[in-house]
Amino acid sequence: MESILSKDEIKQFELAKMATEISCCDWSLLEKVALVCRILFEAGHDSGLSGQISARVNNAEFITQSLGVGFDEVSVSNLLTVSSELNVVSGKGMPNPANRFHSWIYAARPDVNCIVHTHPIYTAALSMLEVPLIVGHTDSCVLFDEVNFLPKWDGIPVGNSEGETITKALGSKKALLLGHHGLVTVARNVEEACILALQFERAARLQLMAMSAGQIVPIESTPAAEAHDWLLQENRVNATFSYYARRALRVDSSCLS
Ligand SMILES: [Zn+2]
Repeated sequence: MESILSKDEIKQFELAKMATEISCCDWSLLEKVALVCRILFEAGHDSGLSGQISARVNNAEFITQSLGVGFDEVSVSNLLTVSSELNVVSGKGMPNPANRFHSWIYAARPDVNCIVHTHPIYTAALSMLEVPLIVGHTDSCVLFDEVNFLPKWDGIPVGNSEGETITKALGSKKALLLGHHGLVTVARNVEEACILALQFERAARLQLMAMSAGQIVPIESTPAAEAHDWLLQENRVNATFSYYARRALRVDSSCLS
């Protein structure tokens, strides 16, 4: 080694390289929403017709899937653009009435441009125990100090009261575990919301496996916070999303049409 750099110096050096060397996606917003649906389906987030993905178009409209279309059937051509009152602005069909709580979150959180709500199997199982999600592994640290917990609430989320309840429970965080139900992740863009949802389900799976083997030891906050910031670098998130998108497109590229 010619010189001994500090960890902070190495991080800054590598971040600068990532900014120029990692190629990112150039998909449209509609294409990204379709890709998220396919990515999450491949990762076990389907639950029949339950769950919604949405992406903000502007302060009055968002993109979401049409009710009756499964995550593995979503494509650019069958997505909807709807108003905050869930009236269809473009596309054919109707949105899931449970999209109503998305409108509440978008109104309360101007920093949020994408919402994922799903019932993947390990998250659903964990939600039945009425215990919070434990972020205890480095990979899960994208969610460190980002997850709130609502053990009891009035599901199904089709009313305005559930919109208020979920938005209040989420607060300023990026994720929420809904008791006896599933997960919500929110983010600055589609790519980040997707990665958070994938890691949420993985964290729930890890937690259940670890709980069955022993007592989970809390992760230390300083390295966890460092991992959080490192893993959520925009270029890294975009590159991770691109990887998952390529995997989904190898299964079926029709989602882009
Ligand atoms: Zn749900």
